Amino acid sequence: MDVIVIGGGIAGVATAYQLRAAGHRVCVVERHATVAQGASYGHSGVVLPTPLDVWFGPTFLRNGRHSSGGVICKTGVTGQARAFVKRLASLHGSEAFAARYALLRPLIESAQAALDDVEGRFQLEYEQREGLLYLVRGNDEWSLNQAALELLRRFETPHHVLTPHECVAAEHTIPADPPFAGAVRFDQARIANCPLFVKQLKQTLDTLGGVQFETGRTVSAIRVENQRAAVELAPRPDEAGKRRDVEVISADAVVVAAGAQTPKLLAPLGLKLPVYPVRVHTLNAPVAHEECVPNTTLVDAARRIVVTRTNHRLRIAGGAVLQRTKQLEQALPEALTEEALALLGEASRDWAPGAARISAALAWEGMKLLSADGLPAVGNTGHPRLYVNAGHGPAGWALALGSARLIAAQVSGTAPDLPADTIEALAPARS
Ligand SMILES: Cc1cc2nc3c(=O)[nH]c(=O)nc-3n(C[C@H](O)[C@H](O)[C@H](O)COP(=O)(O)OP(=O)(O)OC[C@H]3O[C@@H](n4cnc5c(N)ncnc54)[C@H](O)[C@@H]3O)c2cc1C
Repeated sequence: MDVIVIGGGIAGVATAYQLRAAGHRVCVVERHATVAQGASYGHSGVVLPTPLDVWFGPTFLRNGRHSSGGVICKTGVTGQARAFVKRLASLHGSEAFAARYALLRPLIESAQAALDDVEGRFQLEYEQREGLLYLVRGNDEWSLNQAALELLRRFETPHHVLTPHECVAAEHTIPADPPFAGAVRFDQARIANCPLFVKQLKQTLDTLGGVQFETGRTVSAIRVENQRAAVELAPRPDEAGKRRDVEVISADAVVVAAGAQTPKLLAPLGLKLPVYPVRVHTLNAPVAHEECVPNTTLVDAARRIVVTRTNHRLRIAGGAVLQRTKQLEQALPEALTEEALALLGEASRDWAPGAARISAALAWEGMKLLSADGLPAVGNTGHPRLYVNAGHGPAGWALALGSARLIAAQVSGTAPDLPADTIEALAPARS
């Protein structure tokens, strides 16, 4: 079949890869001049989520008023944003959390298998390394994390629970004072450069053939009919106002993997995804003192801020901001940007003092889609020619590869490697 994939982030390029592997011809349309320029660029490197970093459960958005749970919510959040927070709160209980994670788990396993397969075939080098340390500040936070620890045991995920003393001994940069509650160490958790992987996968596809990349082109509308699907392309910047006809590419199916733009592209077709966009920030700071740089990637568990080394810099990512829908099209007010960046600076100073020169850091802001029920929106939409791979929240790095496998199986009419209840729970048209 001929398939159009909208979006050249990890989700779009992974989808193209899996569709090609299943024998289809693919055209990826990306509005930027190259791939991995959206949320995939801002990644903090954690390849696959553990129960401690999924975007639902006892710790997530625990307190809707401030930065607790990793999200800055301004009071007065109304309408859709409020409904979103309320729905996520229904997953605070440990049973609801465990049931939801059990649905996500097969997708994590499929993503791991997909990544291993790509690595085995093409020997890609994208700055992979191992080691992750979740740091827990207070005892209240520690007790909220017990449900996640229970899931780690249940799914036999290798990890070590550390006392503050053991933690300071294991990672010399962490100060013993002020006191903190403890940590969870994952020696085998993988960290890697997501945009580098996306670019290498594109390069691999360029070499293999069968996937065409239309970069610098924006999809302005999707058309789906019984016999055919198509996308309309906005005029190139140098053609604006000159072209009268609409440029259209048609195919047998369309996969929307357009990151935060996905709901906007689907809305005219009457499809509403159960997702909500949040802004996220990164600081890229030069290393200040080599001996203060942590060996492991650190996660401030309650604030969901990741501190990781990339070459000669420290990348500090997090500072999510939840806003009302009508504020999303506007630039973030300066005070909120400062608040988000201050949280990042604080986390870096608290857990790796002296490591980063925050005053010389470059700031970046991106948008990611979180779903109200904690799972991404993946698979067929109900229309036989329309598919979605989006809404992976803070965990799309490798998860999108597993999602891409599901889409390739659905497009091909072959049996997916996921259980039926997971496929149902991921369905983009779920309410
Ligand atoms: C700061 C930050 C840290 C993160 N850390 C991690 C982490 O450690 N681990 C993890 O697993 N995940 C992490 N994530 C989340 C992860 O990066 C995302 O889940 C993932 O990158 C989403 O990929 P995507 O392809 O769906 O979206 P994107 O990367 O945003 O790609 C969508 C693409 O679609 C294109 N597009 C949009 N509209 C159109 C259109 N109309 N026409 C043509 N092209 C279009 C965009 O230009 C873009 O390139 C992080 C995200 C952020 C922002």
